[in-house]
Amino acid sequence: MPVSAAARHSHVSRPSSQSLLGYGARSPQVARMQQLIRNAGIEVGPIDGIFGPKTLAGVKAYQASRGLSVDGIVGPQTWAALQRGAPQSSRPTAAVDGADTFTPGGSKQVTAYVNGQPRTISVVPVGNGQYLRGDAARAWERMQAAARADGINLSATSGFRTMAEQQSLYAQYGSPRAARPGYSNHQNGIAMDIGGVGGRGTAADRWLLANASRFGFRNLPSEYWHYDYVG
Ligand SMILES: [Zn+2]
Repeated sequence: MPVSAAARHSHVSRPSSQSLLGYGARSPQVARMQQLIRNAGIEVGPIDGIFGPKTLAGVKAYQASRGLSVDGIVGPQTWAALQRGAPQSSRPTAAVDGADTFTPGGSKQVTAYVNGQPRTISVVPVGNGQYLRGDAARAWERMQAAARADGINLSATSGFRTMAEQQSLYAQYGSPRAARPGYSNHQNGIAMDIGGVGGRGTAADRWLLANASRFGFRNLPSEYWHYDYVG
């Protein structure tokens, strides 16, 4: 009559040290963090344990979505939020891969503004917690895929904005960097601020300037990151 069954008392392993994770970090903890952010419905790129640009964008989007300070560093508060959102690890095999991930298609009705006038439109998620009007979203995803095929990684940094979000940006930056509330194409769900461009003259910038019009996007000359969907 062996007593070996006692060994089944599984030791729930919390990550032993939740060190600060920032851009450039590589570790299994980075992979766990990536999975938790993905589980929250925010894209982080591949779950590869490497804290690169997509992970940075994902961390920032996650922090913004949870009302944390958006510094792109996974410290105690961001870890705490991620742990709260994690499946409670009473089951040792709780670390699911591929389950409960971002599912596109969750459109929502929002109040858009065109020339100061409100109207209701439908926007769809395009990753990183960002939304675009349906037609612009489809064009964005085609453009993103075409860029990726050419080795260029474009990410969604800021798409549709609510009136409150535009008012907040306008209060922070003013004109001309932020458009007057009610008059930004971001409020009509057709503008995207693109992450991963890096400035004028980069490979991504040159790719966009050469190809965006094929997908119906037009760059705002004063802002290398800003593209409007004009169809
Ligand atoms: Zn913009």
